[in-house]
Amino acid sequence: MQHKKRLLILLPDGKIHKVSLPFLTMSFREAPLTGTMLAALTPSDLGFDIRLCDASVSKIPYGEKFDLVAVSIITGTAVEGYRLADHFRARGAKVVIGGVHATLLPDEASAHADSVMTGFGEIAWPQMCRDFCAGALKPRYDGGSPDIAGLPWPRRDLQKRFGYAMPNTVFATRGCRNNCDFCAVVGAKFGWHTRPVAEVAAEIAALKGSRFAFNDVSLCEDREYAFELCRALKPLKKKWGGLMTLKAASDEAMLDALAEAGCCFMLLGFESAHRNALVGIHKSFNTPDQYQRIVSNMHARGMMIQGCFIFGLDDDTTDVFDDTVKMIDELQIDIPRYALYTPFPSTACHARVEGQDRLLGHNWAWFDTQHVVIRPKNMTPEELDAGFIHAWQETYSMRSIFRRLSPKRHQFPVALVGNLAYRLYRRELRHDAHRFPLSPEDVP
Ligand code: SF4
Repeated sequence: MQHKKRLLILLPDGKIHKVSLPFLTMSFREAPLTGTMLAALTPSDLGFDIRLCDASVSKIPYGEKFDLVAVSIITGTAVEGYRLADHFRARGAKVVIGGVHATLLPDEASAHADSVMTGFGEIAWPQMCRDFCAGALKPRYDGGSPDIAGLPWPRRDLQKRFGYAMPNTVFATRGCRNNCDFCAVVGAKFGWHTRPVAEVAAEIAALKGSRFAFNDVSLCEDREYAFELCRALKPLKKKWGGLMTLKAASDEAMLDALAEAGCCFMLLGFESAHRNALVGIHKSFNTPDQYQRIVSNMHARGMMIQGCFIFGLDDDTTDVFDDTVKMIDELQIDIPRYALYTPFPSTACHARVEGQDRLLGHNWAWFDTQHVVIRPKNMTPEELDAGFIHAWQETYSMRSIFRRLSPKRHQFPVALVGNLAYRLYRRELRHDAHRFPLSPEDVP
């Protein structure tokens, strides 16, 4: 009898969200959809025995044999993904690499893979599986960005139980219409796509539990679509969250519709406290003088806010760290998060910074938004790193946490847990002895 072909779908480790305790490894973010969607798209008639491993929350099955291994990489996990690809190839598996980074740099990925998949997987993945089983795997599959109607539901049964703070994730849209100069979504040219609202609502209605999250990068980009989605979600009476732009959040009718549909948390990319810095990254639709009004409007509607800020922008001086910490305290952002300006490949930011000879290295392992990889314009790399760590320390001091959070807010317990989790990350950052990609071995 022919043995069942073993397929491993592997997501390399993302360190920032991981909490490792002696009795528990879990990610305090939402469950990713990449692996569960690829599993769902695998043609059932091929009879694969599918194993899903998100290395953020599960042990990598190094010692096991697989026939086919799929590794999905973003830029910050590419080096680790290549290492894993090499490992499983050496053990006899065929390896296919896909994901955003493979879409940005397919030739680089092909050095570690039997096949590279770019773009969306909806059509390319099933075809790749069939070709593999027929012994005719091609070196390249370009999925392009086809329609996203009629998709199967993700194989959530393969996801690690108790691995994620938010295990129920869904997507309604893909891509973004904006043009922020650092954004890998723009670099990958994913365009903008919406799923039929009825399909999204049916999938959400069938989810176990009363809470879920959208992992779309810009859920409310199309105003009419977002209103239609909210109308479909309202009768389901579930609590949920997602990501949206400040442009969409400045629309009070949109906020009303979201709140009525059960939205109770949103991640917003504020990026900077300074107008000129925002113009410099092509995000001039963020206007700092509107921040207070937007935050107050969202809090008034019971929404918790996770706010993202970037340091190291070309306009930033050493004042930016304390200015930002102070502004976040005053705005009372529930869960702030800091990133460093990171020139992902194929973005406008990368072209500019490389053209000015300001890249500190090319090892993608450092491109995780938590390490300085460029020479900033108005300070030294060391000042940028020290200011970045200082901001994390200040914002997650108990003094700041109690200034920002109010027990009267609907989502206070969730926000408090989120803050305590980021306090653990703050401690790790303070003890991280290896902060710079400056040694020669860091340049491949
Ligand atoms: S709004 Fe967000 S997803 Fe869209 S281009 Fe800007 S950073 Fe990327």
